[in-house]
Amino acid sequence: MNINPATSLRSDYDLLPLGICVVDESLTVYAWNRTLERWTSIGRDAAIGACLQDLFDTVGSRGIRSRLASVFQQGVPLVFSAALHRQFLPIRLPDGSLMPQRTHIQPSGAGDGRAVVVIEDLSQPMSQLDDLRSERRRLELSEASLRKQQEELEATNAKLKEANKHAQQANRSKSEFVANMSHEIRTPLTAILGFSDILGEDPNPDVCRNAVETIRRNGEHLLAIVNDILDLSKIEAGKLETTLTACSPQAVAEEVISLLRVRADAKGLDLRLRIEPGVVKVIQSEPTRLRQVLLNIVGNAIKFTQTGHVELSLSPAEGECGPQLTFAVSDTGLGIPADKLSTVFEPFSQVDNSAQRQFGGTGLGLAICKRLAEMLGGRITVTSELGEGSTFCLTVPACSMSCKSTVQLLHKPAALPGSGQASEAPSLDGYRILVAEDGPDNQRLINYHLRKAGAVVTIVENGQLAVDAAQCDEAERPFDLVLMDMQMPVLDGYEATKALRDRGYTTPIVALTAHAMDGHRQKSLDAGCDDYATKPIDAPALISIIRDQVGRHAAAAII
Ligand code: ADP
Repeated sequence: MNINPATSLRSDYDLLPLGICVVDESLTVYAWNRTLERWTSIGRDAAIGACLQDLFDTVGSRGIRSRLASVFQQGVPLVFSAALHRQFLPIRLPDGSLMPQRTHIQPSGAGDGRAVVVIEDLSQPMSQLDDLRSERRRLELSEASLRKQQEELEATNAKLKEANKHAQQANRSKSEFVANMSHEIRTPLTAILGFSDILGEDPNPDVCRNAVETIRRNGEHLLAIVNDILDLSKIEAGKLETTLTACSPQAVAEEVISLLRVRADAKGLDLRLRIEPGVVKVIQSEPTRLRQVLLNIVGNAIKFTQTGHVELSLSPAEGECGPQLTFAVSDTGLGIPADKLSTVFEPFSQVDNSAQRQFGGTGLGLAICKRLAEMLGGRITVTSELGEGSTFCLTVPACSMSCKSTVQLLHKPAALPGSGQASEAPSLDGYRILVAEDGPDNQRLINYHLRKAGAVVTIVENGQLAVDAAQCDEAERPFDLVLMDMQMPVLDGYEATKALRDRGYTTPIVALTAHAMDGHRQKSLDAGCDDYATKPIDAPALISIIRDQVGRHAAAAII
C-alpha cells in the first residue's frame, strides 16, 4: 500500500495519550499509533490497510461510513462524545467495560482525502466526575446532617431556655416561700416569746392561763406548718402510703364542719353541709387523708370569705371507672383570678404573695391536697369568679365493695392535730426511767411529765453517760426503760443504743427525736431501739409508749 508521508504519523504521536489513526473515505487505515495498538491490542501492521470498521466492535461502527461523509465531502470536523456515542469506535478495557471516550474526526488538512481520527480516553475525567458527583452527594449529605444537627441544637437550646426559665421561676418561688415561711414562723414565735415574757412578769392567774393558752395555740400552729412541709416532702419523695379502709363520707364531712365551725362563727359566716340523695353510706378510702384535704379546702374557703356562706356538699357522680363521690366546697369569698387558677395547686403558690398580703398561709395546703387526692384515686379541681367566690371539687372513687367489714364511722369529732385534747395519762408509778437528753429545756419538760406520772427519773446529757449509767445501775436496781434522744454530743443515741445492745443490754430503749420522717424511725429500730417517739413531746402518747414497752418486757421476762 502506498502511504502518503503527509498522513503517516510522526513517532511523536506515539507518545501522546490519544488513540490516533488516519483513514480515507473508504475507511482504509493509513496510520495507527501505539496508543491505539495498546488499547485495541491490534498491531500497526495488522491495522494499516485494513478497514476501520472491521477493526472495531461492529455494532458501534455501523453506519460509520455515512456519518463520515460530511467530513470527507464538506470538510466539517465531527466530534462524538462519550455520553452520546458511547458505542462509536468502541474500545474495551481489560475488565470488559467500554472505555469512556470522545472521538474527533477531521480532514487531514493535506488535501489528500483522508481524515485523522483522534480518540480521547475520558476514564480519568469521568472518574473525576464520578468523584466530584460523590463528593457533591457527600457534601449534600453532610449539609443535611449539619442542618439536622443545627435543628437539634436549636431544639436543645429552646429546651434549655425553657428549663432555665423554670429554674428561675422555681428559684423565685423558693425565695418567696422562704420569705413567707419566715413570716409564718415568726408570727406564732412572736406570740410565744411575748406571752412567755408576760407569764414571767404577771402573777395574775387569769393572765397566766390566757398566756399559756396563747403559747400552746401558737406552738400548735408552728407544728402544723412543719407538718405541712414534711407531708409535702414525703409525698414528693413517694414515701406516703395509703391504706384504704371502709369509712363513712358523711361522717368525715360532719367532722370537718364541726371542727371548723368555730372559725366560721368567729367571722359570722354561714357554714353548711348538704348531702344530696344517692350518696353512698360507705366508701373505701383513707379517712385521715380525706379529712385532711377537706379541712384544708373548707379552711381556705373560710379564710378567703368575709361575708356570706361556705357550703360543703356531697353528691354522687359517675366516672370512667365506676361510681364516684364529689365533695364540693363553695364559698362567696374573694375568688381567684383566671390566670392563677392553674397555679394554685403548685407548691408555694399563693394568689397574693406580696409583703402586704392580708392572709397568712404557706401556699403548701392545696399542693398537698392535690397529691393526696391523686393518692386516694381521685382528683381536685377549682372554678372561680373573681369577687364572687370559688368552688373546689374533690372527687374520689365511691366503690363500696367489701365495705361491710370494719366500718370506721367517725361520729365523734376527733381532735385536730395537736389540739391538746388528750386522754387521761396512764400512770408510770414507780417506773425507773433513764433519760438521755442534752437540751436543758427538754430535760426539764420530760422530767416534769414523767415525774408527774409517778416515774423515778435519772437524767444524763449524752449517749456515753447513758451507756455508763445504764450499766452501772444494772448491778443495783436496774432501770425499767431508757428514753434516748438520738442527736446528742459525745455519743449520739444510735451509737449509745448499739453499744448497749452489743453488751447484752435487754432493757427497752425508746428513741426520742425531732426528726419525724419514716427513715429515722427505721434507723432507730435498726440501732436496737424498741420504739420511737417524736418531738414536740406529746406527753400522753409518750407515757403510753413507755407503759407498753415496760409491760412487754416484763411479760417476756415471765415467759
Ligand atoms: P395557703 O392557704 O396556705 O396560702 P393553699 O395552697 O391552701 O395555701 O392555697 C394557695 C392559694 O390559693 C391561697 O394562698 C389563695 O391565694 C388561693 N386560694 C385557695 N383557696 C381559696 C379560696 N377558697 N378562695 C380564694 N382563694 C383561694
